[in-house]
Amino acid sequence: MTLQERDYQVIWHPFTQQKNRQAPVPIVKGKGTLLFDENGNTYIDAISSWWVTLHGHAHPYIAEKLYQQALQLEQVIFAGFTHEPAVALAEKLLPLLPNQFAKIFYSDNGSTSTEVALKMALQFWWNGRSTVDGQRSTERTKILAFNNAYHGDTFGAMSVSDRSVFTLAFHDKLFEVVFVDTPTTDNIDALIATVNQHNSTIAAFIYEPLVQGAGGIKMYDATLMDSLLAAVKQHGIICIADEVMTGFGRTGKLFASEYLTHKPDIICLSKGLTGGTMALGVTACTDAIYQAFVNDDKLKTFFHGHSFTANPLACTTALASLHLLAQNNCLQTIAWIEAANKAFAEKLTTHYSPLTIKNVRVLGTILAFEIASGKDEYLNNIASIITQKAMAAGVYIRPLGNTVYIMPPYCITADELQKVYEVLENIVVEIAKV
Ligand SMILES: *Cc1c(COP(=O)(O)O)cnc(C)c1O
Repeated sequence: MTLQERDYQVIWHPFTQQKNRQAPVPIVKGKGTLLFDENGNTYIDAISSWWVTLHGHAHPYIAEKLYQQALQLEQVIFAGFTHEPAVALAEKLLPLLPNQFAKIFYSDNGSTSTEVALKMALQFWWNGRSTVDGQRSTERTKILAFNNAYHGDTFGAMSVSDRSVFTLAFHDKLFEVVFVDTPTTDNIDALIATVNQHNSTIAAFIYEPLVQGAGGIKMYDATLMDSLLAAVKQHGIICIADEVMTGFGRTGKLFASEYLTHKPDIICLSKGLTGGTMALGVTACTDAIYQAFVNDDKLKTFFHGHSFTANPLACTTALASLHLLAQNNCLQTIAWIEAANKAFAEKLTTHYSPLTIKNVRVLGTILAFEIASGKDEYLNNIASIITQKAMAAGVYIRPLGNTVYIMPPYCITADELQKVYEVLENIVVEIAKV
C-alpha cells in the first residue's frame, strides 16, 4: 500500500471534508522554505505550514538543540518541578514582550493560550481583587471581541471567535460575547459608545492586533485601534492581545502590539514561538493580574494546566528560535520581504481591475487579496483550485475561500519569493480569463 492508501484507512484530517477528499500529499523532507514530496517534487512553503515556520524546515541549529535536550530531560511534571529550558525561555521572552509583563504561563498551542488568557481574566474578577486601575469590580462577566475574529478551536476560544462555518454546529454551547466590528473611521464613535454602554460589565477584550488571521487575513488601522483601546482601558477592562499569528516578526515588528500605544495586560503566543518546530503556547500577564491569584484562600488558585505544560523539548526549541531571530537580524530580513510584498501589491493593483482581484494589502511578511470570483466566504471552491494550480507550479499556498495570501518563512530567498509572486500572478491571469 502507498502512504496515501494507508492514510486513507486510518487518518481523519483537520479542516477537511472527508467525503471525496483529495489524497493528501506525502511529504518526506523539509529544508529551508522547501517541502519535498515522495516523488521528488519540491514546493516552496509560502504559508509557513499554517503560519508556524520562521527559519525554515528542519533547521539544523534547532534540531541539534532539540537532540541534546532529548538526551538530557524530555519531560517532567511542571507542578512542583521546574527546569532550565522553561525558566530560561521565560527570562528571554519577558524583556522582548510589548509591555511590562511579570509572569509566563505555559500551555501547548494557540487555542490553549487563549483559553488560559480568558480564564485568567475572568478569574481575576472572580477572585475579587481591585481592578488593574485600582477600582473595585462589580459584575464583570462579559467578554468583548471582534467580528471575524479567530482565537482557536476549543470551546472558550470558539466562543470569542466569529460565529462562522467553523462554529456553526456549536452555537448553542458557546458563551455570550459582545461582538463589535474592527475599527474604521465610519464606525469608531459607535464602537466607543458600545464599550461605554457595557463598561463595567466587561471583564476582558480579546483581539488579534492589526491582522485578523483565519477570519480572512483582514487588516485594520493602528490609530483607530488605539482610540478603541483607550476607551476600553478607561473602563479597566483587561486587554488580551492574541498574537498567536502576529508574534515573532510576522507583521514587521517583533509583535504587532508594538504598532499600538495602548499595550495589552495579557498576551497569547504560539505558532512561531518555537520557530515552528514543536507545539508550545505562552500566556504572559502583568503583575496586576498575577497578584490577584496570590492569596491565602486556596480557592483563588489558577486551577489550570496540561500534561505537557512547559515541555522541556518545546521550550528548548523556542529558545533556539529566539536565538536565531536575534542572530539572523530577522527584522531586517522581514523589512526586505515587506518591501518586496509592497512592490508586488502595487503591481497587482495597477495591472488588474477590481473585477479580477480586490483589496490587495500588505503588513510585514503577509500579503493578501481577494479573487473576485464567487462569494467572499471560506467555502468558496476556488480555494482548492488555486492550491492545485500553485502546487503544480511548485508553490504551496492554501487560500481562505477566495482570500489568497502568502506568509513565507523568513529564510525565503529573493528568487523563491519572485517565483511565488509569478505563480500568484499567473493564477490571477488564468482566473481572470474564465
Ligand atoms: C492559529 C491561531 C490560534 C489557534 O492556535 P492553534 O495552535 O491552532 O490552536 C489562535 N489565535 C490566532 C490568532 C491564531 O492565528
